[in-house]
Amino acid sequence: MSTFGTVFMPEMAISRFENDSWDTSSIVSADSISMHPGAHVLHYSSTCFEGLKAFRQDDGSVKIFRLDRSIARFAQSTELLSLPTIDKEATAQMIKDVVAKFAAEVPAPPGSMYIRPTHIGTEPAIGKAASPSLTSIQYILLSPVGDYFSGGSATLRLLLDDSGMRCAPHNGRIKSGGNYASALGPIMRARESHDAHQVLFCPDGDVQETGAANFLLIDGNEIITKALDDSFLHGITRDSILTLARDMGMTVSERQLTIEELLERAAKPGTEATLSGTAAVLTPVGELVHNGKVYTVGSGNEGPTTTKLRSAINDIQWGRAEDKHGWLFDV
Ligand SMILES: *Cc1c(COP(=O)(O)O)cnc(C)c1O
Repeated sequence: MSTFGTVFMPEMAISRFENDSWDTSSIVSADSISMHPGAHVLHYSSTCFEGLKAFRQDDGSVKIFRLDRSIARFAQSTELLSLPTIDKEATAQMIKDVVAKFAAEVPAPPGSMYIRPTHIGTEPAIGKAASPSLTSIQYILLSPVGDYFSGGSATLRLLLDDSGMRCAPHNGRIKSGGNYASALGPIMRARESHDAHQVLFCPDGDVQETGAANFLLIDGNEIITKALDDSFLHGITRDSILTLARDMGMTVSERQLTIEELLERAAKPGTEATLSGTAAVLTPVGELVHNGKVYTVGSGNEGPTTTKLRSAINDIQWGRAEDKHGWLFDV
């Protein structure tokens, strides 16, 4: 399989907001969109997106995982960026329509169809640095993806960064383009100087998240992760994993975790650390780098609880375990 997110279905769902209303959505070629070079998004980053997946079930049907939560987050990102309000039901229908059209192309497990809703401000008005775009486009791209771990389940090395931050704190829970560009400098420097795969942003020593995934620490029967606030992205995978951990009788601690406590707990032999996100579900963390020193997390390899939690979520996604929480949506 090619690199994640580089293969697209030939068509997408699209809808435009003009004259204070959304037009009827349609399915069009995904080759290009056309907008004025002065479009608001191209100058002032009025853009947000979502990332969710459709999964093929053993009976051949296709289900979308936690569609409701993704739409709610898309609506929230839209609102926080002052883009035109979306009609949640209409957006959900756009997603279902385009997934239904390409249902035959949804890869079998462990592959899936990655869904990328996008909302951009299109008003050609470069004088509007301080006011919102009155027009916008929503579109839903589809990208079939294979097994994220086909290259082997290697663990990650993270650089703990307590001097910078991923994005402006009031923007953390918005899934918006500018936040990722903002994190690229620190990530590139961490790769060059520490051979780290990702940066774990820890503003003022408070362990937060990486450029595009949440961070979970597993110590025995306890799973520890930062409590929800405005400063970071509220992952749907994070929420799903914490729910499954509670179902399994684990203690879930959503609270502040300092670098000091993280390094202390990481040194214990049974500790596990993992990143969570839609693309890879759970990616084990083997090493942490802080102040030039490398710390191994637990055994340095993927631990049994990470494997167990990943299987539990995959089993629901693939329709092989009871969907107790109502996470699967028909197309
Ligand atoms: C998308 C994203 C996540 C993970 O969210 P999921 O809903 O689990 O995919 C975490 N952090 C950032 C910054 C993200 O963009």
